Amino acid sequence: MPRVLVCVAWPYANGAIHVGHVSGSILPADIFARFNRMIGNDVIMVSGSDMHGAPITVAADKEKVSPETIANRYHAINAKAIEDMGFEYDLYTSTHTRNHEEVTQDMFLRLLEKGHLERKSTPQFYCENCKRFLPDRYVEGRCPHCSYEHARGDQCDSCGKDLNADQLLDARCQICGGSPELRETEHFFLKLSDFTDALVKYGEAGSHWRPHVRAFTLNVLREGLTSRPITRDITWGVPVPVKGFESKRIYVWFDAVIGYLSASKEWAKLEGRPEEWKDYWTDSTCKGYYFLGKDNIVFHTIIWPAMLLGYEGLNLPYDVPANQFMTLEGQKFSKSMGVSIAIPDMLTKFRPDVIRFYLAANMPEMKDSEFSWEDMAARVNNELVATYGNFIHRALSFTFKNFGAIPVKGELDDRDKAGIARIAEAEKEVRDALSVCEFRRALKGVMDLAQFGNQYFDSVAPWSLVGTDKARCGTVLHVSLTICKALAVLAYPFMPFSSESIWKQLKMEGTLREVGWKGLDLPLKEGEKMDKPAPQFAKIEAEGAGEFQRYAALNLKVGKVLDVQPHPNADKLYLMKVDIGRTIAMVSGLKDFYSAEQLKAKTLIIVTNLEPATIRGVKSEGMLLAAEEGNRLALLTPEKDLEAGTQISSGMEPGQKQVTFKEFQKLDIRVGAISAVDPAVLDLGSRKVQCAVDAPEKGRKYAAFVAGEKALVMFGPDKVKIVFDSDIPVGAKVR
Ligand SMILES: [Zn+2]
Ligand SMILES: [Zn+2]
Repeated sequence: MPRVLVCVAWPYANGAIHVGHVSGSILPADIFARFNRMIGNDVIMVSGSDMHGAPITVAADKEKVSPETIANRYHAINAKAIEDMGFEYDLYTSTHTRNHEEVTQDMFLRLLEKGHLERKSTPQFYCENCKRFLPDRYVEGRCPHCSYEHARGDQCDSCGKDLNADQLLDARCQICGGSPELRETEHFFLKLSDFTDALVKYGEAGSHWRPHVRAFTLNVLREGLTSRPITRDITWGVPVPVKGFESKRIYVWFDAVIGYLSASKEWAKLEGRPEEWKDYWTDSTCKGYYFLGKDNIVFHTIIWPAMLLGYEGLNLPYDVPANQFMTLEGQKFSKSMGVSIAIPDMLTKFRPDVIRFYLAANMPEMKDSEFSWEDMAARVNNELVATYGNFIHRALSFTFKNFGAIPVKGELDDRDKAGIARIAEAEKEVRDALSVCEFRRALKGVMDLAQFGNQYFDSVAPWSLVGTDKARCGTVLHVSLTICKALAVLAYPFMPFSSESIWKQLKMEGTLREVGWKGLDLPLKEGEKMDKPAPQFAKIEAEGAGEFQRYAALNLKVGKVLDVQPHPNADKLYLMKVDIGRTIAMVSGLKDFYSAEQLKAKTLIIVTNLEPATIRGVKSEGMLLAAEEGNRLALLTPEKDLEAGTQISSGMEPGQKQVTFKEFQKLDIRVGAISAVDPAVLDLGSRKVQCAVDAPEKGRKYAAFVAGEKALVMFGPDKVKIVFDSDIPVGAKVR
């Protein structure tokens, strides 16, 4: 029996898994593993939560709890979400186990012993105040390449370049804000160049890899491999098994890839056959498939293979079908609408098969794809419900109503025979596609068969036969139910829950999980009494995201007024200096409403990416937001004090490009009062609209973005809402 090892990228235990993790690595792995089990292969699928690394410690520092508390919390949340989604891991463990520590240290010591590790002293930032080294994101400074002010110790997020700590300019400790100093510290490095020749051979042999994976890999090899540090000056992670390194830990990327091996060993121990992991790692006929996002390719086609080559005797990955990204435009926004793309939240709204269907249909296999609620609703409603679910339900319910049992098959005519032949075609298409990890093509094969089923059902018109030729009617229904059965089998890797349910409604014996692909050949049980069928899927609502997308063009920040002077060339204007994290000059027409003295104490909301305008000879670099009605004016201000420069994102990705005044004028920002809570309704004076707002206070007036029949209350960090400095009627326009 062919063996298959399915390895899935390890999500960091610093948050709940979301649609990006599922579409990128977990779902394709599960579909592939299920398919291989169905066709009789011997499969183990392993992974778990990545408990180590800076993402965890940073989250822990923020909450002032231990890294372990954070990691355990999200490990539990994600293990549950994974189970609820029907992802069938043979083991979903974590990297914070004794077993993983042992396997990691064993790998480290073996590589050390074989001369593939070297000790090197490098300068790292050390904070005298905090008495600690500052790896990676614990230090920020100016990028030497692009002058971005918030470059991290290891990388600049603005220009994307890798940085060494000593390249960073004006470094600041992210814990205390102090200025760290560079200190020499000794670390272990993996000598990747030891493996260049073997890796080139390996990459060139990967003609079955996805083209983008192979091209990326060969390109990295062409550029040349340098030694990579595998230890860090931190206290959270796997201890370095070498004397003198007690205060250091193994770098998270090094231990995370070892997780595939340690999880396989842990699985074997738990099965009570501790040597069985070898079947998947030392038997060269076993193929290892690694599912991950494109940002992780280098770790799986170069670094992990190098480690395995250095260790000797273990299988290299056979295929690394890395996905591209599912981009989440509007994702942050959706959160503010009370809809989140975190899997535990989505599971409160949708059945797992519905989520699985959409994320498979829109999987970013060969290029990036975009997640949107509208697209999800459209595909679920038009394909899953109207085509797939509809065919199965009409065939089952018509049969139940008129026969109450699985009908007997009589003589097949050409049309029936073509229907049966179409099943064989679909089977071949789906099997071929799944064998080579082409999941979208496979799912399309399933949906095409469902569409064919509808056409067949319409063409044989059982409703016109039932009164005239019941035997013939039974035959066409028998053929229809045979197509339903094929759909249940072929869709099982994608939608296991509904497939099992259809299997039961067809009165087939056992479960699809046990029967597998052979279920295609099993005959329907003629005469078997049926139960009243229930539809598998129902239409879903688009979750309303997207309508506010145009407001994401704005980049709004909190501004504190520093200075106010009369404009030299205009009676009604002030020249203001405002701190928005940096000082900008602004011209404003507030002279009729505020004295310079009154304005000096104000905290404002500033549009920071408006095209700069020159007003009466003075350049204005920002625009404050105010609501105006008749001769009344009120300034927008946060309901709680926020620091100058704080982003008022309202849960959206703030705009990075300049906005023209004309574009700004098209936006509809208004004063609204909450007139009902749960669900929240915002009174705009002339009309009332549905409103997205966290913890609304009845009667309270807020600044809100309006889109059709919906509004979104403007808010900053910690959901601090934007209100007004004086009373202003509802419906007043903000400009
Ligand atoms: Zn940069
Ligand atoms: Zn410090």
